[in-house]
Amino acid sequence: MSIISDSLKRIKPSPTIAVTQKARELRVAGKDVIGLGAGEPDFDTPDNIKNAAIRAIKKGDTKYTAVDGTPALKKAVIGKFRRENKLKYSLDQITVGTGGKQVLYNAFMATLNKGDEVIIPAPFWVSYPDMVLLAGGKPKIVKCTEKEGFKLTPKKLKKAISKKTKWVILNSPSNPTGAGYLKKEIQDLAKVLARNKKIYILSDDIYEHVRYDNFNFFTIAQISKLKDRTLTMNGVSKSYAMTGWRIGYAAGPKDIIKAIGKIQSQSTSNPSSISQAAAVEALNGNQGFIKKRSNAFKQRRDFVVKSLNRIKGISCLKPNGAFYVFPSCKGLLNKKTKLKTDTDFVKKLLEKENVAVVQGSAFGLDGYFRISYATSMKNLKKAMSRIKSFCESLE
Ligand code: PLP
Repeated sequence: MSIISDSLKRIKPSPTIAVTQKARELRVAGKDVIGLGAGEPDFDTPDNIKNAAIRAIKKGDTKYTAVDGTPALKKAVIGKFRRENKLKYSLDQITVGTGGKQVLYNAFMATLNKGDEVIIPAPFWVSYPDMVLLAGGKPKIVKCTEKEGFKLTPKKLKKAISKKTKWVILNSPSNPTGAGYLKKEIQDLAKVLARNKKIYILSDDIYEHVRYDNFNFFTIAQISKLKDRTLTMNGVSKSYAMTGWRIGYAAGPKDIIKAIGKIQSQSTSNPSSISQAAAVEALNGNQGFIKKRSNAFKQRRDFVVKSLNRIKGISCLKPNGAFYVFPSCKGLLNKKTKLKTDTDFVKKLLEKENVAVVQGSAFGLDGYFRISYATSMKNLKKAMSRIKSFCESLE
C-alpha cells in the first residue's frame, strides 16, 4: 500500500512551475534557454516597499501576528477596496494569507464537500482544478473559445450549472489568455447567477493592475447584487512585483472568512510579519509604479502580438491585461510538420530553439500555447526570432 494519500493522487504538480524548472536545468547544463514560462513580473519590488520591510525588521515586527493578518494590513486592504473598487468591507470580512494561492486553497478546503462542483472557465489558471480536487470537489470545466475571446458566456454558464454547483470562478484579466471581461459581460453573467441563489462566486482579481488601452476594470461584487455571495481575491504579487513576499488577501462573507482563518490557524498561521508590513506600504504608498510598469508591459505585448501574427501558422489575439498571450499553433499541427499536439509543439520548440513556453492543454484548451512576456525586450526579440525560425523550419 502506498504511503501517499488518495487525495494527493488526484492531482498533478503545476505544469507552469515544471516548465520553469526544466528551463532552469537546461540553463545549468550550459544551454542558452529563454524562459517564457514564468508568471512573475521581471521588475524589482519598489524601494518604498522594501524600505518598509527593513523598518519592520528593525522595529522588531518579527513575531507571530494575528493568524489572518495584522489590523494594519486589513485596514489597508479595506482602503484599497474602497478606493479602487467602491466596495465597503469591515475587518471581519477580510483575510490575509501567504499569497493569493493559499487564500484560494483555504477557501476551497473550507467550503467544498465531496462531489460539490466548481465551474472553471477554460483556459484556466493551472491551480484551480487541482485545488478543487484536493479539497474533494469536482471541477466542471467550461471551454471558452478563441472566438468568444476566451471568455465565459451567459449561455455556457447557464448550461454548466447543476444542483451541485457551489462556486463559479471568474478571473479577469486572465491567466493564461490576458482577456479582461467588460462591465456588460460581467453583468450578463451576474444575471444568470442572481437566479441561482446557492452559488458563490470566486473573483480572482490578481491581475487587476496589469491592464492596457484604457481597459476599464470591474469586479463582480462592485457591479452586481451578488456581493454577499462573492469572495474577491487579490494580492500584491503581480501588482507590485512582490511574488516572493507571499501576500494575498480576500474580502467576502463573514462565515467564509472565519472558516478560512480557522484552516490557517491549524496549518501555516500568519503570513510573514515582515511581508505584511511591506504589503501595507504597497497598498497605502505611492502607486506610480503600477502605471510605469504597465507602460513597459504594453510595449512588450504589442511587440509580441505583432511578431507572432507575422509567423505563418500562428495567430494571436491582442489581450487587454495580464502579461500573457495565448497564441494558436493549430496551423502547424498536421502530418507535414509531424506535430500532433500543442505539447509536441512546445517540446520541439524547447529542444530545437531553446525557448520555453507552456502548452495550452495545461490550461484546459488544446492547440494553443502560453507566452509570458514578463521579461526584457532583448529576450523577447531573441525569442520571437527563434520561434519564427522554428515554425519556418517545419514547412
Ligand atoms: N491567481 C492567478 C490567476 C495567478 O496567475 C496566480 C499566480 O500565478 C495567483 C492567483 C496566485 O498568486 P500569489 O499566490 O503569488 O498571490
